[in-house]
Amino acid sequence: MIHAINPATEQRIASYDLHTPAQVGQKLANAAKAQKNWALKPVEERASLLLSLATVLRRNSAAYALLITREMGKPITEAEAEIEKSAVTCEFYARTAPVFLADTPVASNASDSRVVFDPLGVVLAIMPWNYPFWQFIRFAAPALAAGNGALLKHANNVPGCALALEQAFQEAGTPDGLVATLLIEASDVAAVLADERIAAVTLTGSTSVGKLVAAQAGQLMKKQVLELGGSDPFVVLADADIPAAAKAAVKARFSNTGQSCISSKRFIVDASVADQFVAAFCEAATTLKTGNPEDRDTTIGPMARANLRDDIHAQVEKSLQEGARLLLGGKPVAGLGYFYEPTVLDHVTPDMTAATEETFGPVAAIIRAADTEDAIRIANATEFGLGAALWTSDLSAAETLVRRIEAGAVFVNGMVASDARLPFGGIKQSGYGRELGEFGIREFTNIKTLWIG
Ligand code: NAP
Repeated sequence: MIHAINPATEQRIASYDLHTPAQVGQKLANAAKAQKNWALKPVEERASLLLSLATVLRRNSAAYALLITREMGKPITEAEAEIEKSAVTCEFYARTAPVFLADTPVASNASDSRVVFDPLGVVLAIMPWNYPFWQFIRFAAPALAAGNGALLKHANNVPGCALALEQAFQEAGTPDGLVATLLIEASDVAAVLADERIAAVTLTGSTSVGKLVAAQAGQLMKKQVLELGGSDPFVVLADADIPAAAKAAVKARFSNTGQSCISSKRFIVDASVADQFVAAFCEAATTLKTGNPEDRDTTIGPMARANLRDDIHAQVEKSLQEGARLLLGGKPVAGLGYFYEPTVLDHVTPDMTAATEETFGPVAAIIRAADTEDAIRIANATEFGLGAALWTSDLSAAETLVRRIEAGAVFVNGMVASDARLPFGGIKQSGYGRELGEFGIREFTNIKTLWIG
């Protein structure tokens, strides 16, 4: 049995029976059968399904957004934006999949040689709760257009979203069984992954689970895409536009109540402008409104689960013991719900917990750097490598600095955000493979050489 708990009230919303092994077996069989037919459809036809999906997402946007908010606590306006972004991404791939997957002629000794893109089969998608619609759609839209099927094992604190996603694909006219949700425990995932009808796996989640799944998939020689944790640096150099940087920093850290892999987590600021930055950052952070995530003016909701709040509080306490200075927040909000105060820690050093570990919640760590070189050194002094923001008014110096930052994306004078048009993914302990853009749609294809003599 899976229970959905509203993190704002701690009340149970609904309970769902887990799928039995027989039901899981049936879903695997249906998906494999449906995918074989789907692979034979022209890419234009497969891509057009995504237009219907975008329509379904928008038609049901209010209900889906409320479900997201009730199951994981995201402020309602952000939940609505998540659905809209998912719809936009479907439209993007509806337009571009035929272009990205078109045969690519290559001159060789053949009379005709080309690269063609064939689907891999049914992909197992293990997804997290933090963007319950977006995380699955950003994988599934391109994967389906490429001719694959998808079985979703969603995080078990968002079972309603998991079932609503399956329903949305059905409503859009997806062939029966091609996309389905498995309500199973994490401990049952390995058996599904090992099933011969699963060709590949994509996981968005923690680095520790990523390593387990990667090891299993590696043993089975199944393709993997892993989008894991991050401790993204937000680097502010001495010549940056400080008010603009501070404003963006608050959004970059506190959106989704800080529960985003690409939230900026370490604010590495040149010491000469650090006081100015910290004052502007704290001033903006105090305007955040913590409360009922169903209220339209709420900007900070509860954290998604009690254990996540406990974890972040332990990291804050440890960082304070290690010498960080508390400027804002620093404790759970009293009363019902897994709320945590927006928190700012100053004078964090690269060896403190708030810098070495991923902080998956509303906690900002300010690290003061001696100069630009020191800032880049600190930015790279992490096991992670997902996104990075760099703030400077010297765009020509930025060109060089960007290449030295170890991350899957560097945004100059902006906050890191995913965008259907641009590839998304990490290096180091943040995983491998890419989603979105042209690179993302190729991940679950067999890049096949066709040679005709
Ligand atoms: P998590 O424990 O890694 O869970 C993610 C998914 O993996 C869930 O569906 C979970 O199912 C499943 N899972 C857990 N243990 C598993 C196992 N042994 N075998 C197979 N599947 C397993 O992640 P979380 O702590 O809930 O979420 C936060 C983490 O996700 C953060 O570290 C964050 O950085 C990362 N994240 C990364 C990205 C990205 O794009 N790079 C995006 C969002 C989140 P259950 O719910 O049933 O446990």
